[in-house]
Amino acid sequence: MSHSSFDLPALLGGTPVRPQGPPDWPRKDPAIDEVLEAAARGGLWGKYHGPHCEQLTEELALRHGLSHVVLCCSGTAAVELALRGVKVGQGDEVILAAYDFKGNIQDVLAVGAVPVLVDVKPDDWQFDPQHLEAAFSPQTRAVLVSHLHGGIVDMPAVMAAARARGVSVIEDACQNPGATVSGRPAGTWGDVSVMSFGGSKLLTAGRGGAVLTGDADIAQRIRLHTQRGNDAYPLTELQAALLLPQLAQLGASNARRLTAASHLVESWAGILGFRPFLSNSADSRPGYYKLGVQYDPRAFGGLSRDTFARAVRAEGVALDPGFRALHSTHSRRRYRAVGELTNATEAGRNVLTLHHPVLLESEQMLDAIGIAIRKVARHADQLLALPAC
Ligand SMILES: *Cc1c(COP(=O)(O)O)cnc(C)c1O
Repeated sequence: MSHSSFDLPALLGGTPVRPQGPPDWPRKDPAIDEVLEAAARGGLWGKYHGPHCEQLTEELALRHGLSHVVLCCSGTAAVELALRGVKVGQGDEVILAAYDFKGNIQDVLAVGAVPVLVDVKPDDWQFDPQHLEAAFSPQTRAVLVSHLHGGIVDMPAVMAAARARGVSVIEDACQNPGATVSGRPAGTWGDVSVMSFGGSKLLTAGRGGAVLTGDADIAQRIRLHTQRGNDAYPLTELQAALLLPQLAQLGASNARRLTAASHLVESWAGILGFRPFLSNSADSRPGYYKLGVQYDPRAFGGLSRDTFARAVRAEGVALDPGFRALHSTHSRRRYRAVGELTNATEAGRNVLTLHHPVLLESEQMLDAIGIAIRKVARHADQLLALPAC
């Protein structure tokens, strides 16, 4: 094959940097094989509930130092249960970032409340506690914040503002289980917090979630809502059994992902217009479900974020557009906006996310990502001519 075929982006007919594509998730794991074999032998796969659900509940409570854990069927369900747990209902307002997981605003709407959208910070596109004062109203019942794309929300500031108003805080730690947020485990700052065990997440059971709280009344309201003679939001015994070995490995896996992310950030330093989120505080340790990047099309001759991502994906790297900003996907009648939401608009247009499985691969595989990105960047002009899709 000629030299030029390797230099040309795969999207323009060249040879991909990683022809094998991005690594699979979940990874092959002997500990998981063992669980599945034992489950098949013992019939555990058909059980509603049992020792694995109990052990998972206890381990999550212990790791977070929280006395109440309710396992449930998804992170999205967990957010809804958390909202109900802090008594959010018809006509109440819930403050959240205008750049957030779509299910979160849907959950607020599902319990009959009004989402109040605030802007994100300019440097890392996380929830900005600075806007809380302007967002509060007599109807405010809760603040819902998510740590996104390897970023970390300033929880001490969120808690201080919410406490001063007597408003509850829901902390969404779906993207960073096992991370450290201002000196504490992620998910231990809010009055109630949520985790996800969805198929792409760091802890995976195909589906699943959990609600955590130190407040007995919140826990009781959540249990009352889920218990209808049976568990209406269930996590099964097999799912719990699959999560236990992953939880045991989480610390080591997170450490590897953190090292890999630091390596990537360093090796991308020279790429203009491609800036990974900053989460450099001494007492925090981010978790990487995704590694977020601020993309600036102006540095690539105006090449759109989406075409850039498509070209990098064609090289075999799982780089994707982030969320769409919530105010751009929902009718104005459904939310109240605080201020101009300028940074959230920018985030919705220009976040790129690198999916986490590659963060457990070799340094050589990590370096292939930078090669792919630089190759696409060098050919921005030619890619610009492609029809949008
Ligand atoms: C994935 C995710 C959820 C919801 O989790 P599911 O288990 O997929 O329902 C909620 N919030 C954030 C920030 C997420 O990334």
